[in-house]
Amino acid sequence: MKLKFCGGVRTVTGSCYYLDTGSYKLLVECGAFQGKDDVERLNYEPFPFNPSEIDAVILTHAHYDHCGRLPVLVKQGFKGKIISTQPTRDLTKIILLDAARLQKEEYSRWESRSKAEKPKKESSEEGALFMEKRPLFLEEDVQPVIDLFDVYPYGSSVHLSKDVEFRLRDAGHILGSSIVELWIKTAEGRERKIVFSGDLGQPGIRIVRDPDLIREADYVVCESTYGNRLHKSKDETILEFLSILKQAQEQNGNVLIPAFAIGRSQEVLYEINLFVENKILENLPVYLDSPMAKEATNIYKQYPTFYDEDARRLLEKGDDPFQFPGLVFVNSAEESKRLISKQGIVIIAGSGMCTGGRIVHHIKNNIEKENTHMIFVGYQVDGTLGRRIVDRTPEVKIMGKQYSVRAQIHTLGGFSAHGDQRDLRYWLRSFGHTPKKIFMVHGDEEISIGFGTNIQSELKVEVDIPKLNEEVELK
Ligand SMILES: [Zn+2]
Repeated sequence: MKLKFCGGVRTVTGSCYYLDTGSYKLLVECGAFQGKDDVERLNYEPFPFNPSEIDAVILTHAHYDHCGRLPVLVKQGFKGKIISTQPTRDLTKIILLDAARLQKEEYSRWESRSKAEKPKKESSEEGALFMEKRPLFLEEDVQPVIDLFDVYPYGSSVHLSKDVEFRLRDAGHILGSSIVELWIKTAEGRERKIVFSGDLGQPGIRIVRDPDLIREADYVVCESTYGNRLHKSKDETILEFLSILKQAQEQNGNVLIPAFAIGRSQEVLYEINLFVENKILENLPVYLDSPMAKEATNIYKQYPTFYDEDARRLLEKGDDPFQFPGLVFVNSAEESKRLISKQGIVIIAGSGMCTGGRIVHHIKNNIEKENTHMIFVGYQVDGTLGRRIVDRTPEVKIMGKQYSVRAQIHTLGGFSAHGDQRDLRYWLRSFGHTPKKIFMVHGDEEISIGFGTNIQSELKVEVDIPKLNEEVELK
């Protein structure tokens, strides 16, 4: 049985793992690479397997770095089924449609600019475009992907073939996110179990439940995004969030929250909803300036059975956690532009790493003001505008123009959708029998290596940090 790491190794994006059992070929994830040019370029490389030979894809959740290359896979001949939970299917649709639109816009901007000047590679300063960066897929390529989905609840074991069985468990990362358990009968008739962690959530985060603990595995493929870091506690994070909002109110400054449309946006709304409904904050105008986040919020509303107990209780009491006085859903680009003249407001907008989308315009308008507060609630990949701001770069280039960063910058790691070092360790320790091997993936290289080395000596288990396109034989 062969396992090949086709992405999401020694980096946090492009997750894709190929498993060939001898009688069945399976992918777990088919994500896009994001970040610097030389990373995004990998999206245009051929897959290191034949898409038409793949029997099925199991998708752990809807984030673009896990699902973004599905349309390419389908265009290149994949006809099998895509397995996920119901919310993952619905959220994947809006993520892919949005990505198609963004790529088309970016490409036509690039085309018209390159007609005006001699084509040249732009600096990576602004999440730039290069000549080869044609859209990976178009809007019309999305529905054929969605048509291939087969959805399953958490907890039920299903046979994909005589020798391959899977079960989805709750990963507690975003709505519908899963851990994948796979049981495979080898040619010799032995059963081997492989567990893919997917992205593991932070225990205690809002709306979703805590990650399920898995008791047994021969092999574990585990994410390590925050393998080097400890988040502040949830309570501390909430207090810090509240004090920033209050301070901004006193200074009549704007609060900018770059947020992924799926997951972080809903969690931030949920938190502000509690402040407002409990009268801890009053007269706070909040603009969710992201049509995609609005759509995602509607999907969240459709699946309360996936909520944790607190969120369900809130619903039962009649409080819609995604609706409160002062909240405005901004639809059109015109409405978004009108926010320029406003002060003392909170703007939640994408993209989460400030690589595009409406947040970029709000940053341009606000970053040079000292009473602006920028709150980062999600991971900022190296090479993105968000990362440069978080790293306190004194001047940043946005759409070809330099801006001084005078705004107050806050990072609230406690909002993270990923568990920290302690959470990952707890999850790995919960395996009753020590696995034969753990593959550390989905982390910046030094983080995966550092965390892997610690786990190896602590749990007395073999840990491997695979390289891109490395293939291992699972005995
Ligand atoms: Zn994710």
